[in-house]
Amino acid sequence: MTLSDDEKINYLKLPLSFYEPNRKLASIGVTVKNVPGALASVLDMMGRRRLNVLGLMSSGVGALEELASNSIIVDYTDAGESGLKSVVDELRDNWLVTDVKLYQSEIPGYVINEYHQAYSFLFTRAIIVVDVTLLGILERLYGMLGKEAMAAIFYHVGLSAGKFVAGKHRFLMEDVEDCIKMFAKHIKALGYATSTSMVKTTQGYELTLESLIECTLVGKLVKGHTSNYFRGSFSGYLKELTGKEYECKEVKCINAGDKWCVLSARRV
Ligand SMILES: [Zn+2]
Repeated sequence: MTLSDDEKINYLKLPLSFYEPNRKLASIGVTVKNVPGALASVLDMMGRRRLNVLGLMSSGVGALEELASNSIIVDYTDAGESGLKSVVDELRDNWLVTDVKLYQSEIPGYVINEYHQAYSFLFTRAIIVVDVTLLGILERLYGMLGKEAMAAIFYHVGLSAGKFVAGKHRFLMEDVEDCIKMFAKHIKALGYATSTSMVKTTQGYELTLESLIECTLVGKLVKGHTSNYFRGSFSGYLKELTGKEYECKEVKCINAGDKWCVLSARRV
């Protein structure tokens, strides 16, 4: 049996919702001072009180990230209701903890991450979209507009997105070459590709992308060189960052028989 591309990816399950029939689950929001050992003291105490942590999301908050917000999904079956209450009371007494919120679901055995209300990335609101949603959108659009029109539309959508990201990266980092490396890293961090590498060439840059989501999905609809969103995004990014025009082509693609998708950007 051979693995499909999707099965080869080492998936990290987002700790957003859990369903464990016959178990008692709760979501606990704990804000701690952002100092070494604060989160460890919370988790250690939960362990001693027989709470099993199923999922955890943690992020620095505040202008200087002086606090850390943690959403912890726990199985408290062994600790029981009184054990869970003791944990919450003990957290409220911990001098490293600034806020505690307990959420218990009305659906037995089911709990969602109730604490983090909205996500952000690069100072803008972020949402989580699964690939079946994207595939549904793509199928409908390709069916209505055809391959050529979709290529043009996606290229221009990517162009705008690339310019936006470049503006944010420039704000964070002064060095242009470091920004360009960060562009490749962010594509991976956001899950668009499982591995990325950026190489400087004599005429520009070459970006290699493994399991690029755009080509993985579009490949179910059409064949050939199918990256247009990321091709546009790479172009827009370089233009906004450097003030110079770059032409970006997809020179290798998983839908043209290659192992990876490779975008080549050249100065024009
Ligand atoms: Zn491709």
